Amino acid sequence: MKQTESGTILGHPKGLFILFFAELWERFSFYGMRAILVLYLTAETNAKFNPGLGWTSKEALSLYGWYMMMVYFMGIFGGAIADKWLGQKKSVLVGGILIILGQFSLAMRDLSFFYAGLVLLVMGVGLLKPNISTMVGALYPKGDSRRDSGFTIFYIGINIGAVLAPFIVGYFGEKVNWYLGFSLAGFGMILGQIVYVFGGKYLKGIGELLKSSEETAHLATKPLTKEDKDRMVLMLISFLIVMVFWAAYEQAGGLMNLYARDKIDRVVLGYEIPTSFFQSLHALYVVILGAPMAWAWTKWRKAGKESSAIYKMGIGSIIMSFGFVALMGAAYDVSLSALGKAPVYWLFLSYFLHVVAELSISPVALSFITKLSPAKYASLMMGTYFAITGLGNKVAGLLGEAAQDAGEMAIFTGITVFTLLLGILMLIFLKKLKALAHGAEDIVQ
Ligand code: GLN
Repeated sequence: MKQTESGTILGHPKGLFILFFAELWERFSFYGMRAILVLYLTAETNAKFNPGLGWTSKEALSLYGWYMMMVYFMGIFGGAIADKWLGQKKSVLVGGILIILGQFSLAMRDLSFFYAGLVLLVMGVGLLKPNISTMVGALYPKGDSRRDSGFTIFYIGINIGAVLAPFIVGYFGEKVNWYLGFSLAGFGMILGQIVYVFGGKYLKGIGELLKSSEETAHLATKPLTKEDKDRMVLMLISFLIVMVFWAAYEQAGGLMNLYARDKIDRVVLGYEIPTSFFQSLHALYVVILGAPMAWAWTKWRKAGKESSAIYKMGIGSIIMSFGFVALMGAAYDVSLSALGKAPVYWLFLSYFLHVVAELSISPVALSFITKLSPAKYASLMMGTYFAITGLGNKVAGLLGEAAQDAGEMAIFTGITVFTLLLGILMLIFLKKLKALAHGAEDIVQ
């Protein structure tokens, strides 16, 4: 990596790369555990090899849905705790410790430890996830144009962890035993904590409790202005896009997973692509497309075109709808085909569009929140954002269930129409929405 004299790497503060690797390993731990959770729950109790808890698929998917919702929902509390008591830096440290304890608790081969592990993970991720994201924003002064690309880099780190995890934790969890899988997820988080603690010197002054530093103490007590309140309203409106987006996107783990297994002809050049491969496809696309997408948006902005966060989110929602048009194409082919299977390119195309949409919404929203939040609620707003994504995850599960009765085509069509309309509405009201940001240079950048 290129290192400049000014203490930056690739033109970004070194602290970004500490947060990058810390979060990469946290996500490795998170997605690794997630990759084997349902498999562990549903594996037979009396299986000769690698027995599990013997739950039914329905029970397992229900626990999975609640876990995914809670883990993000706790972000509200994690954010509030950071703003009021711990500051973000310490919250990330405590969160990481809880995650390590949680993963090893799952590895204890005991049902009470299993439940305790889930609770620890929910608390740990709730403390860590929003606060590490807010810290990324704090690396950049107001109006710094590197902020968005900083978040894109951070987001690529997240997804490197997410690509690796199913292969490593999934492989050892399935082929050796579940408990080794959970332990490896725990070791991943230990690596993350090591990076975070030893890299602390690059994070001086980042994520401290406002009250503890004299020059920022007034921010903790300053009442909110009308501008602050309008900006918070704007963030809450944008969260609607975020919720719908994640509800659509997270079909990948449930409905689209089953669809890939049963209704897609996955044979390419004589080789059958395993269904589980598609579970890494999103993250793989993010790692590949993250930099080119950031470059494309920068070029767009430099050409003087509209590139506010709200605009990108609206466009993202419209692109998401195209991703579901591709799935409608697949469902149509299924209905025509004698074997009841559609060609695999639909799935590759659909996931590709989902990720182009994701990169226009998710890292953009993180950056946007750090720009618009009043300092004393910085973490709370970030936590609320993650809570909304958690809600989106839960809705995703409900839509997947609904598809069992209504059929996939109906759900794919519904999502297409909804995301399209929402995106168009966002663009129609763009001016009004941007006004809520009060011309802060920070939104039009
Ligand atoms: N995939 C991203 C991550 O794991 C975003 C998840 C979310 O916002 N719910 O960080």
